[in-house]
Amino acid sequence: MNHEQRLLILDDEPAVAKTMQIIAQKLGFSVRCCTSPEAFFEEVDGWQPTHIAIDLVMPAMDGIEVLRHLGLIGCRAKIILTSGIGNRVLESAGRSAHNHGLSITGTLPKPFRPALLRELLLSTEISTRDSTSNKCVTDFIIDAESIAHALHHKQFELYYQPKLDLTLRRITAFEALIRWNHPVHGQINPDNFISFSEGSGQIDAITEMVFDMGLEWLAQLSHSYPISLQINIAASSLEDINMADRLDELCRLHNVEQRQITLEITESCVMSDFNLSRDVFNRLRIKGFELAIDDFGTGYSSMSQLTKLPFSELKIDKSFVVPSTNSGEAGDVVRLTVELARNLGMLSVAEGVENLETLQFLRRVGCNLAQGYFISPPMRGEHVASWLSRH
Ligand code: C2E
Ligand code: CA
Repeated sequence: MNHEQRLLILDDEPAVAKTMQIIAQKLGFSVRCCTSPEAFFEEVDGWQPTHIAIDLVMPAMDGIEVLRHLGLIGCRAKIILTSGIGNRVLESAGRSAHNHGLSITGTLPKPFRPALLRELLLSTEISTRDSTSNKCVTDFIIDAESIAHALHHKQFELYYQPKLDLTLRRITAFEALIRWNHPVHGQINPDNFISFSEGSGQIDAITEMVFDMGLEWLAQLSHSYPISLQINIAASSLEDINMADRLDELCRLHNVEQRQITLEITESCVMSDFNLSRDVFNRLRIKGFELAIDDFGTGYSSMSQLTKLPFSELKIDKSFVVPSTNSGEAGDVVRLTVELARNLGMLSVAEGVENLETLQFLRRVGCNLAQGYFISPPMRGEHVASWLSRH
């Protein structure tokens, strides 16, 4: 590790805190433990931990309040949630913390497995591989400084993955997926830095850069091909009510029509602050953007909420699509989601189509659009025109 790593533990069980402390110290962390929220917030302020582990259930103050407060003070530490109250509650708390702008590394059910704690503590350091020898060449810690440097030196690139219209049997859109081409550590995938940038307040800069690059690419390509572009928008970018104006302005600058752009917003984000998001979504729709609910099936939305939202597309999460032909349950979820989308007047899109069998299954159940490695993995922007002419 090349930076000092400081872990702050908030847990009212001293024995648990002590065990975590020993494990973390072996990994090179400096560790401090607190049993009360007052002492904890003093340390957050004064010691500035890089990592925090929080027990969700404590007598004096519950972990949810602690998380809300951390969100309010703009805490940027990597957070691990611990508790014995069950996985589902932990995961739901994790999602809501994420929506407060916090960077959640993972959840640790109690009694905890030391190996999982080690994994979570190290998970912000990504290992990169030397493509010639397939050896780990180095450990790299993603922090606000390295992201700022990457933005400044234009190290981000967009890859594009086609979306196939199963009725028209042609490609009608591409999804822009960001990659970080690091000069030393090679290509870094978005899962390693997007949620960090949400916590560090850099996501809006990334969103605008993605928009700018994507629209420039689309403006060139749409001279020859009538396609639209799907862009992922992070939860926290939507908290800014003016984001819609800035995206609108970028469309004007690049001479791209707003209706050619679909913004993909994850289901958990859509549902996190229903009323606020409804205002933001309505503004985006009024400006002409299309909206898609991404990763559908992972966010527990209710039918009545869905009918109130101005979305035109529902993207079925790949965790259901990939096993849909092997598992009856996953297949049923896909079939019912396609039906739900149809009843709500929305288009259904399946992501994660990895083979012909899945594509045929999707056609049978009446899914509208498909995306996945079987059609094409994401590709560099400059390869799209020749790929389209071959397909
Ligand atoms: P997502 O929006 O759910 O995107 C789909 C992910 O599935 C992509 O991973 C894609 O490469 C991968 N994928 C595509 N086809 C298949 C398949 O057939 N099988 C399987 N197993 N996977 C497939 P990627 O590019 O690593 O992106 C991961 C996530 O990062 C995205 O998930 C999205 O949430 C986020 N992301 C990517 N680009 C951006 C961006 O520009 N802005 C924001 N805010 N988030 C982004
Ligand atoms: Ca997406």
